[in-house]
Amino acid sequence: MPGEFDFIRALRGRTPATPGVLIGPGDDCAVLLPPPGKLLVTTDLLTEGVDFLLAEASPEAVGRKAMGVNLSDIAAMAGTPFAAVVSFALPRDPPGMTTRELADRLDAGLREMAGRFGVAIVGGDTNTWDGGLVVSVTVLGHADRPVTRGGAKPGDIIFVTGALGGSLLGRHLDPTPRVREALALREFVDLHAMIDVSDGFAADLSHVLAESGCGAEIDADAVPVHPDAVARSRLTGRTPLDHALNDGEDFELIFTVSATDAAKLEGATVPVTRVGRVVAGPGLWLVAAGVRTALTPGGWVHDV
Ligand SMILES: [Mg+2]
Repeated sequence: MPGEFDFIRALRGRTPATPGVLIGPGDDCAVLLPPPGKLLVTTDLLTEGVDFLLAEASPEAVGRKAMGVNLSDIAAMAGTPFAAVVSFALPRDPPGMTTRELADRLDAGLREMAGRFGVAIVGGDTNTWDGGLVVSVTVLGHADRPVTRGGAKPGDIIFVTGALGGSLLGRHLDPTPRVREALALREFVDLHAMIDVSDGFAADLSHVLAESGCGAEIDADAVPVHPDAVARSRLTGRTPLDHALNDGEDFELIFTVSATDAAKLEGATVPVTRVGRVVAGPGLWLVAAGVRTALTPGGWVHDV
């Protein structure tokens, strides 16, 4: 990009002093004071044409999403995010703007989402090339006891935050990572297993079950269906429940707790919905009107 050093200077000017960040952008490395607990590291690569279309999504929205999906992964481990590094490959001729404008607007979106969670962008890299926009974000977090996908036990109750389905109508570009919710829940109950909904409720719950060596029954009537799922169903002819179970990128959390802890969550300050139970042996079932049918994940599957 012409004026790349100018852009890097601008980035340095946008980086506020943050406790724990001894050296931010501009040196060969960032220097951080390690926070207490275990270090969490997550990274995600967003590619134009695969994860978003610049013709449809504003650069700010792409920036918010790129940061948000990583924060959601930190939330899924019940961690506290604290720093991020960001790299992007910029197209030479972005639609309707200069490369520098695209870089600034993307950075604004990244910074807005990071700022909501007190996360400092401490470094990164920028290039220009003949392809589409590519954004890579890595977020660092910390947790005393990270919650994995592998801790679900038969008899556990399955919960989900928020409502599911239809994120393609816009929420997929503007996720609300459930960082605060996860930290609040962790104070309240012993979270056995947790994951964020990126591929779809059924697909992501299946990841938990596979790692935990268990199965699950989901009560069809209990699944919180987002109004967007209802709106989508009018366009697709699929049921709202199908959208809720299989659409991806809700960025809500699925978690399991003991039956005793489940009772504690009934009056919790974090709104959560009890959707089913973990059972012994493999398999995922949907229970509707007392009839159990196999629930085959039909969520969006990454093609790489
Ligand atoms: Mg995840």
